[in-house]
Amino acid sequence: METLKCSKCKEIKSTDLFGKHKNTKTGFQSMCKICTKGYNKQFYIENKERIDEHQKKYQEKNKEKNKEKIKEHNKRYRKENKEKIKQYQKENKEKLNEQVKQYHSNIREKLDPIYIKILLKNQGFKAEQITDELIQLKTITIKTQRLCNQLKN
Ligand SMILES: [Zn+2]
Repeated sequence: METLKCSKCKEIKSTDLFGKHKNTKTGFQSMCKICTKGYNKQFYIENKERIDEHQKKYQEKNKEKNKEKIKEHNKRYRKENKEKIKQYQKENKEKLNEQVKQYHSNIREKLDPIYIKILLKNQGFKAEQITDELIQLKTITIKTQRLCNQLKN
C-alpha cells in the first residue's frame, strides 16, 4: 500500500485518502482529502462573497455564451435547410401569417417591451438610444393614451 504524509495534519495515510493531482511529484495532492475538505470549507467561509460573486459572473458569462451558441446554431440550421424552410413556409403560408399576426396583436395588447422597441424604432430612434427608461416612458405614454381613448368612448 502506498502511503503519503499529509502536509496539514502530518499523518501518514494511504494514497487512497489523497486527491489526485497532475502537477505534483507524487501525483497526489499534498493535503489529505479530509484536510482538503476542511481547508476548502474554511476558504469558502472566509471568501464567501468573492467566490459567490465569481460564480455569479461565471454563470452570467456562460449564459451569454449559450445565447450566442443557440443563435449560431439557428443561423447554421437556417442556412443548411434553406430549401426545406422555404418549402415549409410556402406550404404553411396562411398558418404562419396568422401566427405572426397573432403574435403582434399579443405583444401590442400586452405592451411587451419588444413591441415598444419596434414602435420607438419606427419613430426614428436608434437601437442604442432605446434604453429601459425610454421603453418605460413610452409604455406609460401609450397606457395613458389608451385610457384617454377609453374614457372618450
Ligand atoms: Zn490531513
